[in-house]
Amino acid sequence: MPRVYLDNNASAPVLPEVLEAMLPFLRDQYGNASSIHHNGQTARRAVERARQEVADLIGARTAEIVFTSGGTESDNLALWGIAAVRPGSHIITSTIEHHAVLITCEELQKRGWQITFVPVDSQGRVDPEDVRRALRPETVLISVMAANNETGVVQPVDAIAKIAREAGVRFHVDAVQAAGKIPLDVREIGCDLLSISGHKFHASQGVGALYVRRGTRLLPMLYGGRHERERRAGTENVPGIVGLGEAARIARRDLAAESLRLSGLRNHLESAVLAEVPHCGVVAGQSPRVPNTSNMYFDYIEGESLVIALDLKGFSVSSGAACSSGAVEPSHVLTAMGFSPERARSCMRFSFGKLTTAADVDALIGILPEAVARLRSISPTFHEAMASRVPAG
Ligand code: PLP
Repeated sequence: MPRVYLDNNASAPVLPEVLEAMLPFLRDQYGNASSIHHNGQTARRAVERARQEVADLIGARTAEIVFTSGGTESDNLALWGIAAVRPGSHIITSTIEHHAVLITCEELQKRGWQITFVPVDSQGRVDPEDVRRALRPETVLISVMAANNETGVVQPVDAIAKIAREAGVRFHVDAVQAAGKIPLDVREIGCDLLSISGHKFHASQGVGALYVRRGTRLLPMLYGGRHERERRAGTENVPGIVGLGEAARIARRDLAAESLRLSGLRNHLESAVLAEVPHCGVVAGQSPRVPNTSNMYFDYIEGESLVIALDLKGFSVSSGAACSSGAVEPSHVLTAMGFSPERARSCMRFSFGKLTTAADVDALIGILPEAVARLRSISPTFHEAMASRVPAG
Protein backbone atom coordinates (compact mmCIF):
# COMPACT_ATOMS: atom_id res chain seq x y z
CA MET A 1 0.00 0.00 0.00
CA PRO A 2 1.62 3.33 -1.02
CA ARG A 3 1.58 5.67 1.95
CA VAL A 4 0.38 9.27 1.86
CA TYR A 5 2.40 11.50 4.18
CA LEU A 6 0.49 14.57 5.36
CA ASP A 7 2.47 15.40 8.51
CA ASN A 8 5.12 17.77 7.14
CA ASN A 9 4.81 20.13 10.14
CA ALA A 10 6.10 17.29 12.30
CA SER A 11 8.96 16.54 9.91
CA ALA A 12 9.24 16.97 6.14
CA PRO A 13 11.10 14.45 3.95
CA VAL A 14 14.64 15.27 2.86
CA LEU A 15 14.48 16.29 -0.82
CA PRO A 16 16.56 14.27 -3.31
CA GLU A 17 18.64 17.38 -4.20
CA VAL A 18 19.28 17.99 -0.50
CA LEU A 19 20.43 14.41 0.02
CA GLU A 20 22.72 14.67 -3.04
CA ALA A 21 24.29 17.83 -1.61
CA MET A 22 24.84 16.15 1.77
CA LEU A 23 26.23 12.82 0.57
CA PRO A 24 29.82 13.91 -0.25
CA PHE A 25 30.13 15.25 3.30
CA LEU A 26 29.02 11.95 4.78
CA ARG A 27 31.28 9.94 2.44
CA ASP A 28 34.64 11.46 1.57
CA GLN A 29 34.59 15.12 2.70
CA TYR A 30 34.93 14.29 6.37
CA GLY A 31 37.10 17.23 7.46
CA ASN A 32 36.41 19.30 10.56
CA ALA A 33 35.48 22.82 9.42
CA SER A 34 37.88 24.23 12.04
CA SER A 35 40.94 22.40 10.67
CA ILE A 36 43.42 24.38 8.59
CA HIS A 37 44.34 21.59 6.16
CA HIS A 38 42.69 20.86 2.81
CA ASN A 39 39.94 18.63 4.21
CA GLY A 40 39.05 21.18 6.86
CA GLN A 41 38.98 24.04 4.41
CA THR A 42 36.71 22.09 2.02
CA ALA A 43 34.26 21.64 4.90
CA ARG A 44 34.61 25.29 5.91
CA ARG A 45 33.81 26.52 2.41
CA ALA A 46 30.71 24.32 2.28
CA VAL A 47 29.53 25.59 5.68
CA GLU A 48 30.02 29.20 4.61
CA ARG A 49 28.17 28.63 1.32
CA ALA A 50 25.27 27.20 3.31
CA ARG A 51 25.41 30.16 5.69
CA GLN A 52 24.96 32.45 2.69
CA GLU A 53 21.91 30.48 1.48
CA VAL A 54 20.30 30.54 4.94
CA ALA A 55 21.04 34.27 5.29
CA ASP A 56 19.48 34.90 1.85
CA LEU A 57 16.33 32.99 2.78
CA ILE A 58 15.60 35.40 5.65
CA GLY A 59 17.27 38.61 4.44
CA ALA A 60 20.13 38.45 6.97
CA ARG A 61 23.91 38.93 6.77
CA THR A 62 26.03 35.79 6.98
CA ALA A 63 27.71 36.96 10.21
CA GLU A 64 24.26 37.00 11.83
CA ILE A 65 23.58 33.27 11.30
CA VAL A 66 24.43 30.80 14.09
CA PHE A 67 24.05 27.12 13.19
CA THR A 68 22.40 24.99 15.87
CA SER A 69 20.99 21.49 16.31
CA GLY A 70 17.44 22.60 15.38
CA GLY A 71 14.47 24.69 16.39
CA THR A 72 14.52 23.75 20.05
CA GLU A 73 18.14 24.76 20.48
CA SER A 74 17.64 27.99 18.52
CA ASP A 75 14.68 28.93 20.72
CA ASN A 76 16.58 28.04 23.91
CA LEU A 77 19.65 30.00 22.81
CA ALA A 78 17.53 33.06 22.03
CA LEU A 79 15.66 32.96 25.35
CA TRP A 80 18.48 31.94 27.72
CA GLY A 81 21.02 33.99 25.78
CA ILE A 82 19.08 37.24 26.26
CA ALA A 83 17.63 36.42 29.71
CA ALA A 84 21.05 35.56 31.16
CA VAL A 85 22.28 39.09 30.50
CA ARG A 86 19.81 40.36 33.17
CA PRO A 87 18.82 37.81 35.83
CA GLY A 88 15.34 38.36 37.25
CA SER A 89 14.19 40.47 34.28
CA HIS A 90 10.83 40.20 32.47
CA ILE A 91 9.94 38.33 29.27
CA ILE A 92 6.69 38.46 27.26
CA THR A 93 5.53 35.49 25.19
CA SER A 94 2.21 34.00 24.06
CA THR A 95 0.12 31.08 25.28
CA ILE A 96 0.32 29.31 21.90
CA GLU A 97 4.08 29.04 21.49
CA HIS A 98 5.70 25.70 20.79
CA HIS A 99 6.91 23.89 23.92
CA ALA A 100 10.48 24.81 22.93
CA VAL A 101 9.57 28.39 23.95
CA LEU A 102 6.77 27.74 26.45
CA ILE A 103 8.56 25.22 28.67
CA THR A 104 11.79 27.24 28.47
CA CYS A 105 9.85 30.28 29.74
CA GLU A 106 8.33 28.20 32.54
CA GLU A 107 11.83 27.06 33.51
CA LEU A 108 13.10 30.65 33.48
CA GLN A 109 10.15 31.56 35.72
CA LYS A 110 11.13 28.85 38.24
CA ARG A 111 14.62 30.32 38.27
CA GLY A 112 13.55 33.88 39.08
CA TRP A 113 12.67 35.56 35.79
CA GLN A 114 9.19 37.08 35.38
CA ILE A 115 7.12 35.89 32.45
CA THR A 116 3.87 37.22 30.96
CA PHE A 117 1.95 34.86 28.67
CA VAL A 118 -0.34 36.94 26.45
CA PRO A 119 -3.56 35.27 25.22
CA VAL A 120 -4.88 34.73 21.69
CA ASP A 121 -8.36 35.26 20.26
CA SER A 122 -10.69 32.55 18.96
CA GLN A 123 -8.91 32.74 15.58
CA GLY A 124 -5.56 31.98 17.21
CA ARG A 125 -4.06 35.46 16.83
CA VAL A 126 -2.05 37.47 19.33
CA ASP A 127 -3.23 41.09 19.67
CA PRO A 128 -0.11 43.32 19.49
CA GLU A 129 -1.83 45.72 21.91
CA ASP A 130 -1.84 42.96 24.55
CA VAL A 131 1.93 42.76 24.09
CA ARG A 132 2.23 46.53 24.49
CA ARG A 133 0.14 46.45 27.67
CA ALA A 134 2.34 43.70 29.12
CA LEU A 135 5.53 45.78 28.84
CA ARG A 136 7.26 46.68 32.10
CA PRO A 137 10.39 48.74 32.83
CA GLU A 138 12.28 45.47 33.45
CA THR A 139 11.13 43.76 30.19
CA VAL A 140 14.14 42.57 28.16
CA LEU A 141 12.59 40.27 25.57
CA ILE A 142 9.40 39.53 23.63
CA SER A 143 9.11 36.11 21.94
CA VAL A 144 6.20 35.45 19.57
CA MET A 145 6.10 32.85 16.80
CA ALA A 146 5.73 33.71 13.10
CA ALA A 147 3.33 30.81 12.39
CA ASN A 148 1.75 28.29 14.69
CA ASN A 149 2.68 24.64 14.17
CA GLU A 150 -0.83 23.29 14.87
CA THR A 151 -3.13 25.82 13.22
CA GLY A 152 -0.76 27.45 10.72
CA VAL A 153 -1.96 30.87 11.92
CA VAL A 154 0.45 33.66 10.96
CA GLN A 155 1.07 36.11 13.82
CA PRO A 156 1.36 39.91 13.44
CA VAL A 157 5.12 39.89 14.08
CA ASP A 158 5.77 43.14 12.18
CA ALA A 159 3.44 45.07 14.50
CA ILE A 160 4.94 43.39 17.57
CA ALA A 161 8.46 44.21 16.35
CA LYS A 162 7.49 47.88 16.13
CA ILE A 163 6.25 47.81 19.72
CA ALA A 164 9.45 46.09 20.87
CA ARG A 165 11.63 48.62 19.05
CA GLU A 166 9.78 51.60 20.53
CA ALA A 167 10.22 50.10 24.00
CA GLY A 168 13.90 49.23 23.48
CA VAL A 169 13.15 45.53 24.06
CA ARG A 170 14.65 42.62 22.10
CA PHE A 171 12.25 40.64 19.89
CA HIS A 172 12.63 36.91 19.12
CA VAL A 173 10.54 35.22 16.42
CA ASP A 174 10.16 31.43 16.35
CA ALA A 175 9.90 31.07 12.56
CA VAL A 176 10.31 27.29 12.54
CA GLN A 177 6.93 26.76 10.83
CA ALA A 178 7.17 29.84 8.62
CA ALA A 179 10.61 29.52 7.04
CA GLY A 180 10.40 28.32 3.46
CA LYS A 181 6.57 28.63 3.50
CA ILE A 182 5.97 32.39 3.54
CA PRO A 183 8.34 35.27 2.71
CA LEU A 184 10.46 36.17 5.75
CA ASP A 185 12.79 39.12 5.90
CA VAL A 186 14.37 39.91 9.26
CA ARG A 187 14.98 43.56 8.29
CA GLU A 188 11.37 44.04 7.14
CA ILE A 189 10.04 42.37 10.28
CA GLY A 190 12.50 44.29 12.45
CA CYS A 191 13.28 41.41 14.83
CA ASP A 192 16.54 40.80 16.72
CA LEU A 193 16.46 37.00 16.80
CA LEU A 194 14.74 34.41 14.61
CA SER A 195 14.76 30.60 14.84
CA ILE A 196 14.55 28.14 11.97
CA SER A 197 14.76 24.34 11.80
CA GLY A 198 15.95 22.27 8.82
CA HIS A 199 13.56 19.34 9.01
CA LYS A 200 10.50 21.58 8.68
CA PHE A 201 11.50 22.60 5.15
CA HIS A 202 13.06 19.45 3.71
CA ALA A 203 16.57 19.45 5.19
CA SER A 204 17.55 16.74 7.66
CA GLN A 205 16.53 16.46 11.31
CA GLY A 206 18.91 17.85 13.94
CA VAL A 207 20.07 21.02 12.22
CA GLY A 208 18.80 24.59 12.39
CA ALA A 209 19.89 28.17 12.78
CA LEU A 210 19.36 31.24 14.89
CA TYR A 211 19.53 34.69 13.34
CA VAL A 212 21.13 37.14 15.77
CA ARG A 213 21.01 40.76 14.63
CA ARG A 214 24.42 42.41 14.60
CA GLY A 215 25.11 44.12 17.93
CA THR A 216 22.72 41.92 19.96
CA ARG A 217 24.29 40.87 23.27
CA LEU A 218 23.64 37.14 23.65
CA LEU A 219 25.33 34.84 26.16
CA PRO A 220 26.12 31.33 24.84
CA MET A 221 24.51 28.24 26.31
CA LEU A 222 27.26 25.87 25.21
CA TYR A 223 30.86 26.56 26.20
CA GLY A 224 33.89 25.04 24.55
CA GLY A 225 35.59 25.80 21.24
CA ARG A 226 35.31 29.18 19.58
CA HIS A 227 32.83 28.06 16.93
CA GLU A 228 30.08 30.22 15.42
CA ARG A 229 31.73 33.48 16.59
CA GLU A 230 31.72 32.18 20.16
CA ARG A 231 27.93 32.00 20.25
CA ARG A 232 27.63 28.21 19.99
CA ALA A 233 30.54 25.91 20.83
CA GLY A 234 30.77 22.51 19.16
CA THR A 235 32.06 21.05 15.89
CA GLU A 236 29.68 22.04 13.11
CA ASN A 237 27.37 19.34 11.71
CA VAL A 238 28.78 19.81 8.21
CA PRO A 239 26.49 17.39 6.26
CA GLY A 240 23.43 18.74 8.08
CA ILE A 241 24.43 22.36 7.48
CA VAL A 242 25.12 21.69 3.78
CA GLY A 243 21.64 20.16 3.50
CA LEU A 244 20.12 23.13 5.33
CA GLY A 245 21.77 25.48 2.83
CA GLU A 246 20.48 23.51 -0.14
CA ALA A 247 16.97 23.30 1.33
CA ALA A 248 17.06 27.08 1.94
CA ARG A 249 18.12 27.68 -1.68
CA ILE A 250 15.29 25.50 -3.01
CA ALA A 251 12.73 27.01 -0.65
CA ARG A 252 13.62 30.53 -1.77
CA ARG A 253 13.60 29.57 -5.45
CA ASP A 254 10.18 27.88 -5.26
CA LEU A 255 8.45 29.90 -2.55
CA ALA A 256 5.93 31.80 -4.68
CA ALA A 257 4.90 28.81 -6.84
CA GLU A 258 4.73 26.39 -3.90
CA SER A 259 2.71 28.82 -1.85
CA LEU A 260 0.08 29.02 -4.60
CA ARG A 261 0.08 25.25 -5.22
CA LEU A 262 -0.16 24.30 -1.54
CA SER A 263 -2.84 26.83 -0.63
CA GLY A 264 -4.82 25.51 -3.63
CA LEU A 265 -4.55 21.95 -2.30
CA ARG A 266 -5.41 23.10 1.23
CA ASN A 267 -8.50 25.01 0.08
CA HIS A 268 -9.61 22.06 -2.05
CA LEU A 269 -9.30 19.69 0.93
CA GLU A 270 -11.20 22.00 3.25
CA SER A 271 -14.08 22.75 0.90
CA ALA A 272 -14.49 19.08 -0.05
CA VAL A 273 -14.47 17.92 3.58
CA LEU A 274 -16.86 20.69 4.68
CA ALA A 275 -19.23 19.67 1.87
CA GLU A 276 -19.13 15.94 2.62
CA VAL A 277 -18.69 15.61 6.37
CA PRO A 278 -21.33 16.94 8.78
CA HIS A 279 -20.40 18.52 12.16
CA CYS A 280 -16.93 19.63 11.21
CA GLY A 281 -15.16 22.93 10.66
CA VAL A 282 -11.88 24.61 9.85
CA VAL A 283 -9.79 25.82 12.80
CA ALA A 284 -8.82 29.51 12.47
CA GLY A 285 -10.27 29.61 8.96
CA GLN A 286 -10.62 33.39 9.15
CA SER A 287 -6.97 34.02 10.06
CA PRO A 288 -4.05 34.37 7.68
CA ARG A 289 -2.38 30.95 7.62
CA VAL A 290 0.73 29.37 6.13
CA PRO A 291 -0.33 27.67 2.87
CA ASN A 292 0.59 24.10 3.82
CA THR A 293 -1.44 23.64 7.03
CA SER A 294 -5.05 22.72 7.62
CA ASN A 295 -6.51 21.97 11.02
CA MET A 296 -10.11 20.74 11.18
CA TYR A 297 -12.38 19.63 14.01
CA PHE A 298 -14.72 16.65 13.70
CA ASP A 299 -17.21 16.81 16.54
CA TYR A 300 -18.12 13.62 18.44
CA ILE A 301 -14.93 11.74 17.64
CA GLU A 302 -11.51 11.41 19.25
CA GLY A 303 -8.78 12.73 16.96
CA GLU A 304 -6.42 10.01 18.16
CA SER A 305 -8.86 7.33 16.94
CA LEU A 306 -9.09 9.02 13.55
CA VAL A 307 -5.26 9.21 13.35
CA ILE A 308 -5.15 5.44 13.91
CA ALA A 309 -8.00 4.75 11.47
CA LEU A 310 -6.29 6.83 8.77
CA ASP A 311 -2.91 5.25 9.54
CA LEU A 312 -4.41 1.82 8.87
CA LYS A 313 -5.54 3.12 5.50
CA GLY A 314 -2.04 4.41 4.70
CA PHE A 315 -2.31 8.09 5.68
CA SER A 316 0.04 9.81 8.14
CA VAL A 317 -1.59 12.82 9.82
CA SER A 318 -1.63 14.14 13.37
CA SER A 319 -4.28 15.13 15.89
CA GLY A 320 -4.88 18.11 18.14
CA ALA A 321 -3.94 16.16 21.21
CA ALA A 322 -0.75 14.92 22.75
CA CYS A 323 -0.02 11.98 24.97
CA SER A 324 1.22 13.23 28.30
CA SER A 325 1.78 10.96 31.31
CA GLY A 326 -0.31 8.26 29.68
CA ALA A 327 -3.36 10.52 29.23
CA VAL A 328 -4.49 12.18 26.01
CA GLU A 329 -4.34 15.91 26.75
CA PRO A 330 -6.06 18.43 24.47
CA SER A 331 -3.65 20.78 22.72
CA HIS A 332 -2.67 23.91 24.68
CA VAL A 333 -2.97 25.90 21.44
CA LEU A 334 -6.59 24.91 20.80
CA THR A 335 -7.66 25.34 24.42
CA ALA A 336 -5.97 28.78 24.45
CA MET A 337 -8.26 29.64 21.48
CA GLY A 338 -11.28 28.78 23.63
CA PHE A 339 -11.99 25.29 22.29
CA SER A 340 -13.64 22.89 24.71
CA PRO A 341 -11.39 19.90 25.58
CA GLU A 342 -13.79 17.68 23.55
CA ARG A 343 -13.59 19.78 20.41
CA ALA A 344 -9.81 20.21 20.79
CA ARG A 345 -9.46 16.42 21.04
CA SER A 346 -11.45 16.02 17.83
CA CYS A 347 -9.01 18.12 15.78
CA MET A 348 -6.84 16.81 12.98
CA ARG A 349 -3.85 18.52 11.42
CA PHE A 350 -3.07 17.92 7.76
CA SER A 351 0.26 19.46 6.74
CA PHE A 352 1.59 19.39 3.19
CA GLY A 353 5.07 19.67 1.72
CA LYS A 354 6.87 19.82 -1.60
CA LEU A 355 6.22 16.13 -2.22
CA THR A 356 2.47 16.33 -1.57
CA THR A 357 0.43 15.89 -4.75
CA ALA A 358 -3.16 16.62 -5.74
CA ALA A 359 -3.65 12.83 -5.95
CA ASP A 360 -2.62 12.51 -2.26
CA VAL A 361 -5.23 15.07 -1.25
CA ASP A 362 -7.92 13.48 -3.44
CA ALA A 363 -7.14 10.10 -1.90
CA LEU A 364 -7.67 11.58 1.57
CA ILE A 365 -10.93 13.22 0.49
CA GLY A 366 -11.97 9.82 -0.86
CA ILE A 367 -11.68 8.01 2.47
CA LEU A 368 -12.12 10.65 5.18
CA PRO A 369 -15.95 10.93 5.20
CA GLU A 370 -16.39 7.20 5.67
CA ALA A 371 -13.67 6.99 8.34
CA VAL A 372 -15.37 9.78 10.31
CA ALA A 373 -18.83 8.23 9.87
CA ARG A 374 -17.57 4.85 11.07
CA LEU A 375 -16.06 6.33 14.25
CA ARG A 376 -19.23 8.31 14.93
CA SER A 377 -21.34 5.18 14.52
CA ILE A 378 -19.61 3.76 17.61
CA SER A 379 -19.42 7.06 19.52
CA PRO A 380 -21.86 7.30 22.48
CA THR A 381 -21.58 11.11 22.53
CA PHE A 382 -22.60 11.25 18.86
CA HIS A 383 -25.67 9.08 19.47
CA GLU A 384 -26.64 11.07 22.56
CA ALA A 385 -26.27 14.36 20.68
CA MET A 386 -28.33 13.08 17.74
CA ALA A 387 -31.05 11.67 20.01
CA SER A 388 -31.44 14.98 21.80
CA ARG A 389 -31.86 16.72 18.43
CA VAL A 390 -34.75 14.56 17.23
CA PRO A 391 -38.09 16.16 18.16
CA ALA A 392 -40.05 13.95 20.60
CA GLY A 393 -43.01 11.96 19.26
N1 PLP B 1 9.09 25.76 17.16
C1 PLP B 1 8.05 25.36 16.43
C2 PLP B 1 6.98 26.35 16.06
C3 PLP B 1 7.94 24.03 16.02
O1 PLP B 1 6.88 23.63 15.30
C4 PLP B 1 8.96 23.12 16.39
C5 PLP B 1 8.84 21.69 16.02
O2 PLP B 1 7.77 21.18 15.78
C6 PLP B 1 10.05 23.58 17.13
C7 PLP B 1 10.08 24.91 17.50
C8 PLP B 1 11.16 22.67 17.53
O3 PLP B 1 11.99 22.38 16.42
P1 PLP B 1 12.94 21.10 16.39
O4 PLP B 1 12.06 19.91 16.17
O5 PLP B 1 13.85 21.36 15.24
O6 PLP B 1 13.67 21.07 17.69
